This record gives sequence, C-alpha cells and structure tokens, in this order.
Amino acid sequence: MSDIIIRDIETIIVDLPLRRLQRFSALAARTQSLVVIRVRSQDGVQGVGEGSIPSGPWWGGESVETIKTIIDSYLAPVLVGQRATDMTLLRARMDEAAFGNSFAKAGLEMALWDLIGKTLEQPVHALLGGKVRESLSVAWPLATGDPRQEVQEALSKLEAGEASAFKLKMGAVELKKDVARACEVALALRDKAGIRVDPNERWTEVDALWALPRLADIGVEMIEQPLPRNDLDGAARLQARSAIPIMLDESIRTTRDMLEAAKKGAGTLISLKLMKSGGMVSSRGVAEVALAAGSALYMGTFLESSLGTSGNMQFCATLPHLPLGGELVGPMLIAEDITEEPVRYVDGALQLPSGNGIGARVDEDKLEAYRRDRSRTTASVAPNNGGDRATALAGA
Ligand code: MN
Repeated sequence: MSDIIIRDIETIIVDLPLRRLQRFSALAARTQSLVVIRVRSQDGVQGVGEGSIPSGPWWGGESVETIKTIIDSYLAPVLVGQRATDMTLLRARMDEAAFGNSFAKAGLEMALWDLIGKTLEQPVHALLGGKVRESLSVAWPLATGDPRQEVQEALSKLEAGEASAFKLKMGAVELKKDVARACEVALALRDKAGIRVDPNERWTEVDALWALPRLADIGVEMIEQPLPRNDLDGAARLQARSAIPIMLDESIRTTRDMLEAAKKGAGTLISLKLMKSGGMVSSRGVAEVALAAGSALYMGTFLESSLGTSGNMQFCATLPHLPLGGELVGPMLIAEDITEEPVRYVDGALQLPSGNGIGARVDEDKLEAYRRDRSRTTASVAPNNGGDRATALAGA
C-alpha cells in the first residue's frame, strides 16, 4: 500500500436549525453550528470530521469561527504533505502549532481517522483497538424550562424508542424554582425512565448541599457538574455527602485533570467528549486514568450532527462498561442533518453505523444549503457583462 499523504484540508462552517429551543444554563439556542472538516489524500480519498460546539464559546472558549481559523491558519499548514497514519507525530505537530484549541484538533483528528479508515477499508473502531459494543443507550436532554412540556416531551420520546433516560438541564433559573421543576418532572417519569440533572457549574456548594438530598428523594440517579469546573475540592466534599453519584464534565478535559480529580476523590462518573479532550487518542487516555481510579465512564455530547455522532460512536464502541450509557442525541435534536444517511436509534439506543472510516458521508446538497458562506460560494461570473460579478444571495 502506498502512503496516505495529506493533500489538502478544507473547513466549512454550517448552521443547522434545531427542532426546539435548547436552554443551557448560560443561553438558549435555536440553531446548532458546526464545522465540517475535510481532509483529502493525494490518492483522492476524502476523510471527514466535525468540529462541534454547544452554541458558541461559553462552554470551552472555542467557537465554530475559532475552529475554522485555527485549522485554516495554523493546523492545516503543519499537516499538509504529511503521512496521515503518523497520528502520534501529527498530534504533536498540532500541539506545537497551537496551544489548547481541543475542539479544532478533535475535529481534524476525526477527519484523519476517517481518511485512514476509508483508505484501508476499515471502520475507525477497528483502528482504535476494536469494538466491545454495537449500541449506546442514550439520555434525552429536557431543556425548555417548562415542566409540563418537558414531561410530555419525555413521554413521547419513550414511546418512540428514542431515549432510555432523561437529563434535565438546570441552572438557568432560581434554585428553588429549578428544583421544584426537577421534582415535577422526576415524579411524573418515576418508574418509567431514569432522570439525571446537569446544572453546568451554576451552583455553589451551599446550593448543592440544599438541592442534593431533595433530588435524591425523588429518585434522581445522577447529578452532573454542579460546581464550577476548577472546584475539585468542593466536588470531592459533595460526593462524600451525596447519595447520588456526581459526574464531572467541565472539570475533566485532560489526563492531568483526571489524575487531580482522582487524587481528591472526585468524579464517581466521568463524561467523555472527543471535542473537550482533543480527539479520540486523548479521550482514550482520560478514560484509562478514570478507570484506573475506579471512576465509571459516560459518553457525553456537544449535540453533534450525524457526522460527528458517527465519529463519536466509533470511539464509544471501544469503551468498556458505561453504566448510565451516554447522550449522543444531537441528530434527534437537529431538524436538518448533513449526512447521506442519518444515524439510527433503536429502543432508546444509538446504533454503531456500519461502513468504513467513521461510517458516514456528507450529503453535498445539504452542505451547500446550510453552509454559512453559501452566498459567496454561489457567486458566479455573469455572461456578457464584461466580467462583473453577479452574486446569488442564496438564502443569505
Ligand atoms: Mn455537561
């Protein structure tokens, strides 16, 4: 086999409409923006990855705009001309070229794995050491803030077999009101599905000490990142007093973060996300430290499209024991997807896509329809007018 030499790298920002309002602790969103990253080899094979962001830079400091700029200006130049299979070297070159920027690096790494897989005609999970699962039970986010609507939404998702548990996003409203809402939803769904909550760092330790026993009473089975990400001491103190397992998400991005959490006794559960840790290789490292420390793993999401979800599922397929499953539900929340075939959900579980690479291909028509720069890319030279540019503002 000839070497897989990286010929060029292309990044395209895409804005996809969401099916419903998604309220995070920091903001409310009606669209999901992502970056489609294409890496082509000299043999003409194309690998594709997705840089996904939970509605702007509030979560991790990066945005779709920074992902595109960092890749175009700093990461692509050090990768073009290199062998795609030299992954350790390529990751080192990216780290030398740009500090941090884990979302940009993760999306690019996904495209590289896809390129290698598509060239070698192997799924990415086989390249990562092999799969141990074919599906992932998923929790659906309840995030509109209206408990009656949220209960109805949950019941319909259960009926459709599109979720096996629910995660209530909290922290956007005053604590007592928020806990009352959680109680209403949890009581209505009791004995029907598991309920977890995620305040996205918005609580103080005092808030959490007040809320935790109340949430435990109504059967909430997990609380995610109640305290600010840097407060590992607080997280450890809370875990020692909590009947509910506490999951760390924002706190854990690197193996070093995980080691610190383990030393302090924080993190009964760890949410893994390719984007926050800089890709599949780094995320695997975090998972190994977590397992060595006795923590359990969980597969988190940044609401990827079917493209990114396929890449995440390739990684997820290699993870042992996920006691609460995960939440790769982006494709169900996005109203218009960008792959030829959407990922499939059966009985509340995401199915591992078949096929080589990440197991997904971009639908070129949809990419053209939803790319942010579509007004510029449809620009054409009008005939017989001396070369003046006539720009077609297709939906801009
Ligand atoms: Mn989270």
